[in-house]
Amino acid sequence: MKIAVIGAGPGGLYAALTAARENIQVDLFEKRKVGEGIVCGECIFDSLDIMTRPGRGLLHPVDEIVLKGRADYTFPLSRHRKLWMLDRRIWQQELARLALSLGVHIHENAKITRGLLRQMQEEYDWIFDASGAPSVTSRLYQFSGEYFKEYLLAYQLVLAADFSAFWPRIKVAFFPNLPAEFQPAYAWVFPKNAGRANVGVVCTVRGVLSKDRLDLKKLLADALHAEGLAEAAILERGSGVASTRMMPRLVYDNIVLIGDAAGLTSALHGGGIDMACLSGVLAVGTVMGGNSGVATYEEKLKQYVKGKNALEAVAIRKMRTLNFDQFDVLLRGVTSRGKLARFRTALNHLDMFYVTMKWFGTKKPIPDWPV
Ligand SMILES: Cc1cc2nc3c(=O)[nH]c(=O)nc-3n(C[C@H](O)[C@H](O)[C@H](O)COP(=O)(O)OP(=O)(O)OC[C@H]3O[C@@H](n4cnc5c(N)ncnc54)[C@H](O)[C@@H]3O)c2cc1C
Repeated sequence: MKIAVIGAGPGGLYAALTAARENIQVDLFEKRKVGEGIVCGECIFDSLDIMTRPGRGLLHPVDEIVLKGRADYTFPLSRHRKLWMLDRRIWQQELARLALSLGVHIHENAKITRGLLRQMQEEYDWIFDASGAPSVTSRLYQFSGEYFKEYLLAYQLVLAADFSAFWPRIKVAFFPNLPAEFQPAYAWVFPKNAGRANVGVVCTVRGVLSKDRLDLKKLLADALHAEGLAEAAILERGSGVASTRMMPRLVYDNIVLIGDAAGLTSALHGGGIDMACLSGVLAVGTVMGGNSGVATYEEKLKQYVKGKNALEAVAIRKMRTLNFDQFDVLLRGVTSRGKLARFRTALNHLDMFYVTMKWFGTKKPIPDWPV
């Protein structure tokens, strides 16, 4: 079998590694150099409890997350699911080095266009499109609009400042005055060390967003001011989008969509590294079963994300329907160290309690995790 992978992000690299371990001939095409041009908070949230601890590129595990409503609430999330701060450039370059050592042919500065993709469909048995959103495949099959029906829009800065009051925790701050239509939305401060952090804002958008309806740069400036970071030096700026819905179709002839190209980013928090890796592994596993195998890809993915998506749907509903004071009470309750307060919160939000218990209780092991 001969396969091509488009994109050397987490999804493409995990697909390439999984295939190489099965002795499949792999060509990986990346339009830049591996690890270049990444705009990301760089925190892996292992929401399904499937990832192995990253090797090179791991900066530090994150034990606690600070959630800011009317006040700051600290939550020991790592007791339930792991979080790791990464240097994604180093992590991805290490994964690429490993792929190379397993015989993957990596073609850098190799942008795949619609025309090239059409030619590749003749040359390769299977093509894994991990080119992000909107994908190369969407240009060929004309479904790019699917990525923008409902999506997360993010704006990020890399800052140099004194982050010792935050590090090694990460912080997520919610907005008291943002209309429900933009929820979920939040600002983040993810320190990479005591002197540097990725900070940004993300909000949900349907259709085109005009600046007078919501100005992400202003939203971030206000959030940084509130955190005492207004004077921090800006090292990098970037922005990005991610669809919050799984694409209605994941397989187009012999092309399989993975990661952001498949619309697998979390609709709640915008994290997608874990899902990109998972889909890369599952996609390769299913094509090994030929056409009937690949027909199970979507269903397999859905089985993994069912519990997580149910919890996220309830959390999103809360963000859209509660006013900020009610939301603050919920945040305070779920993060409380007191059992009684947590119990009372569970009683007041039984829908959330039920899906959270199911999510905590589910672990579906991955058979062939490549790294
Ligand atoms: C501002 C921001 C912050 C984020 N923070 C986090 C976070 O902290 N944690 C988290 O889990 N997720 C985060 N995400 C989401 C995360 O970045 C994505 O879910 C994840 O990178 C998806 O991986 P992927 O492999 O599918 O795609 P990508 O990482 O986007 O990789 C796609 C690759 O394909 C290449 N490519 C694109 N087009 C072509 C082409 N035509 N030919 C060849 N190569 C091509 C690109 O150069 C890129 O290397 C964030 C997203 C944004 C926008």
